[in-house]
Amino acid sequence: ATQPGAGSPEVATHCPYCALQCAMTLRHSAAGIEVLPRQFPTNRGGLCQKGWTAAELLDHPDRLTTPLLRDRPGGELRPASWDEALDRIAAGIRTVQAGHGRDAVAVFGGGGLTNEKAYALGKFARVALRTRHIDYNGRWCMSSAAAAGLRSFGVDRGLPFPLADLGRADTLLLVGANPAETMPPLMRHLADQRRRGGRLIVVDPRLTATARQADLHLQPLPGTDLAVANALLHIALTEGWVDREYVAARTTGFDDVRRTVAGYWPAEVERLSGVPVADLEATARALGTAGSAVILTARGAEQHAKGVDTVSAFVNLALALGLPGRPGSGYGCLTGQGNGQGGREHGQKADQLPGYRRIDDPAARTHVAGVWGVDPDELPGPGVPAYQLLESLGTADGPKALLVFGSNPVVSAPRAAHVESRLRDLDLLVVADFLLSETAALADVVLPVAQWAEEDGTMTNLEGRVLRRRALREPPPGVRTDLAVLAALAHRLQAGAPSYRLSHSRGPLLTPAAGFPTDPREVFEELRRASAGGPADYAGVTWDRIDGAEGVFWPCPDVDGPDSPRLFADSFPTPDGRARFHPVTHRPAAEQVCADYPLHFTTGRVLAQYQSGSQTRRVAALRRAAPDAFVELHPDLADRLGVADGEQVRVVSRRGELCAAARLSPGIRPDTVFAPFHWPGAARANSVTNDAVDPVSGMPEFKICAVRVEKR
Ligand code: SF4
Repeated sequence: ATQPGAGSPEVATHCPYCALQCAMTLRHSAAGIEVLPRQFPTNRGGLCQKGWTAAELLDHPDRLTTPLLRDRPGGELRPASWDEALDRIAAGIRTVQAGHGRDAVAVFGGGGLTNEKAYALGKFARVALRTRHIDYNGRWCMSSAAAAGLRSFGVDRGLPFPLADLGRADTLLLVGANPAETMPPLMRHLADQRRRGGRLIVVDPRLTATARQADLHLQPLPGTDLAVANALLHIALTEGWVDREYVAARTTGFDDVRRTVAGYWPAEVERLSGVPVADLEATARALGTAGSAVILTARGAEQHAKGVDTVSAFVNLALALGLPGRPGSGYGCLTGQGNGQGGREHGQKADQLPGYRRIDDPAARTHVAGVWGVDPDELPGPGVPAYQLLESLGTADGPKALLVFGSNPVVSAPRAAHVESRLRDLDLLVVADFLLSETAALADVVLPVAQWAEEDGTMTNLEGRVLRRRALREPPPGVRTDLAVLAALAHRLQAGAPSYRLSHSRGPLLTPAAGFPTDPREVFEELRRASAGGPADYAGVTWDRIDGAEGVFWPCPDVDGPDSPRLFADSFPTPDGRARFHPVTHRPAAEQVCADYPLHFTTGRVLAQYQSGSQTRRVAALRRAAPDAFVELHPDLADRLGVADGEQVRVVSRRGELCAAARLSPGIRPDTVFAPFHWPGAARANSVTNDAVDPVSGMPEFKICAVRVEKR
């Protein structure tokens, strides 16, 4: 379908990468397609290197423009027509489902997909495939904060206030977040805060680019953040900094938390975490005596087998200090992926239906089934979280076919070699991507799909602000949009077997065109109806309304009513309107250091690369800025190992190894080593990581496992 913005000399749009969704103008010029930063409340005219160079991939020589097909296992991928590729997929799905049942086909989505695609993918899985198996890589991004937010606040919106509020906080506590590298324009808000005399405190086992700018840097042993948070609340209680009026009027469950944190004596937490008592006290004082304060967590707090409880510990601290809902104050989570927020609201998650509805809620099923024109009893139930899904592929009871959209788990999954072997065991692996990612390279069928500047849509940024992505041009010849792929597959599945008809005993019969429109605006109109009345209510959000403002914050139930930039001012969306405390206790990481594996290993990101690196490793300027993986070591540790800066080392865990050059830094703890996870092959950090998961969120423990380091 022709995209409405396509053909214009320039369009106002947003960056294809992270959740800050910096505003940019994209325009045709004599030199090609140019990116210009645009003023917007989030990026304030700034872009990072990734945004500046985002257009390079549009005409990159590695761009896929024809479907690829593998005729036999172990054979080479060869070019194919769209009809041949889609017929092969439909036939493969029919064969697998006929032999093993509907749940034998699974779908894996991504946190970078637009709201429209995330919605269509969830519907495709539940209605066209009728499988319960759909989940996505956002499970590895902030599912722990999502679960903690839901259980305390009754809603999961990363930031329940606009980003600009950070500039008004007297004290800002950043836990496991490194925005100076992951989303640099966000630092403009922190600079505002500092100019106003505010204090910045950073909790991170490494002296990151962000920690270097802090007034105080707490450097705990990885996996001890929860204990640090409980100690801070212990001190706040002792010193009388708890807001007792707020706690009494607006919360429940504080007594249990008070009893729990009573055991977290600062001196004991210093022994456990390595954070000096004086620093714990200074942090508690800075938060407890501030006129306004914000606590933000990110992946460093979340990517643990106790990630939900760790985030809850910081939420408890924020609630006890009376921060959520107070101007210039609150708790929030910095989402990572471009549509990390919207991508988890519209049905890609194993346990959700659109509008952030629970799939096991009968009223939610009836509402969404009504919008889809299907029988609610025919909708599948909950599936399993992302890692559990990938881990089960090709096993006796697991899915035998997988369709991947917008994700590269061969590089980004924990215990990645194991996941790779699971993918190889499938009867059918289909990957829709615009580059031959490491996952696509394993596929039986690869579908070349459009890029961000070639299709319209909406994204929801880290503030819960719904934004417009606008197309500058049509996709190149041979390339289709993800929406067109889903429509074509649904059509084939219905045509091939009556059992795949979209409609069952109730409602009108859906035609493929009605069931899976290819026009993103039409999909968004349906998404609005499906989300109406849910926690993430988009009913009042229209494309025209977004165009006329600087985005629209959900919930927004009424086209004529206000949107919701700030939540929790008067009440929380819980049954009694109060936030809930949850007592949480420290427990060790899933894997402990020992004589064979005496060091802690943790992973993260670098400024010039993004996620699995499949895209940014192909951009010349980014490759120059960050060409290779590295292993960060403290000089004392390097001395003990006899390793010099730049020498090749091997990081070995019980699951695999990573080989890269040593980078010596006095800013990391001597008992901890770090590697970024953007590279594949021998430098793949996720060959080493542990696949223990949080029991509530399903978040894997990317941030800590036991390793040894050897000189190569
Ligand atoms: Fe893009 Fe994020 Fe960089 Fe902004 S900070 S330009 S959204 S990658």
